[in-house]
Amino acid sequence: MTAHNPAPDLLIIGAGLAGLVCARDALGAGLRVKVLDKSKGVSGRAATRRIQLDDGREARLDHGARFFTARHDRTKAFAEAGIREGWLSEWTRTVSEWQGGEIHTPADGHPRYAPAEGFSAMGRALARGLDVQTNTEVTSLERRGKGWRVHTRDGASWETPRLILNLPAPQVAALLEDHEIGDAAEAVGRVRFDPCWAVGVVLERDLIDHTWPALKLTGHPALDWIAREHTKRASGHPPALMLHAGAEWSRTNLERRPDEVLPDLLDAAAEVLDQKILGQSLPHFHAFAHRWRYATPTARVPEPCHWDEALNIGWCGDWLTPDPHGPRVEAALLSGWRLAARVKE
Ligand SMILES: Cc1cc2nc3c(=O)[nH]c(=O)nc-3n(C[C@H](O)[C@H](O)[C@H](O)COP(=O)(O)OP(=O)(O)OC[C@H]3O[C@@H](n4cnc5c(N)ncnc54)[C@H](O)[C@@H]3O)c2cc1C
Repeated sequence: MTAHNPAPDLLIIGAGLAGLVCARDALGAGLRVKVLDKSKGVSGRAATRRIQLDDGREARLDHGARFFTARHDRTKAFAEAGIREGWLSEWTRTVSEWQGGEIHTPADGHPRYAPAEGFSAMGRALARGLDVQTNTEVTSLERRGKGWRVHTRDGASWETPRLILNLPAPQVAALLEDHEIGDAAEAVGRVRFDPCWAVGVVLERDLIDHTWPALKLTGHPALDWIAREHTKRASGHPPALMLHAGAEWSRTNLERRPDEVLPDLLDAAAEVLDQKILGQSLPHFHAFAHRWRYATPTARVPEPCHWDEALNIGWCGDWLTPDPHGPRVEAALLSGWRLAARVKE
């Protein structure tokens, strides 16, 4: 039997960063807002894996977003507020570069921000005071008068006069499939994402002869990024690495199992870092591989967010273009804020 839930003024599907900032602004404008997310926590691709070691220590590894940059006034103010409130830190101003076997460290650049407790702390900070229901996957949408009814996998449903989707574009496209939305839905259908395989490793000991916080690799056949993850954390955090594979390697290996991908990426990192010890690649206590099928949008929708006044439906996220820069955390935040302003109009 379907359980009907009380109607909020605005229902947001997806507690990614865009959905959460949109929800905060809409709540601030006086709307009753409800957010649903299929995962067990909030924050979406700004994600952290917690690993409990046998010796009682805990490691936190950001297998999604690695840091964020603030170019706009509101994101700068947001970063400053996060630092003041204690959930955000400036991680580093330098990312070293690997090319053709050589490592080069450029002069200080702009601040890269990351929460010291792991990136998901950003989603948790944004979700504070919001009505968010996790473990709730939306499976279909139904038009009801001027509003919407949303159906979830557990057989429940939600009525709402206004609906916002904060999901990767292919998942938005799947939900819109049976509805007459027109050109806007076609634009969603044209969005493309690169995948990414990410590997996290809690090391037995820190790397020898490497002191950089992060390394960006250019022209490597498998790897795109290596971070010494513990450099983001409080002292005492076990030494740990996050490895991100490049888009091409991730696409070629997309349907392999995590246990098949893991040794390949560990070997690749050990070779880059020259850390093969007694034949073992990066001696470690724990390692995992995570596949992001939709990691980075490549072709995006050419508007900052979308709101259809007639249908009372809209979408936001990093696959829209609120500024000319890349599809990153900052784009997600800007898109969510812009959409809240449209809904309030
Ligand atoms: C490997 C990787 C590295 C990255 N590195 C960086 C970086 O260094 N710097 C940077 O700025 N950005 C980085 N990013 C990008 C950054 O993570 C994203 O731009 C940002 O988190 C996107 O937020 P969003 O709100 O648009 O979407 P998402 O985070 O994708 O949120 C979508 C939410 O929808 C939920 N959902 C999906 N389907 C359903 C459903 N049917 N029902 C209910 N809920 C659903 C999901 O659980 C998720 O919480 C990286 C991303 C990845 C994957």
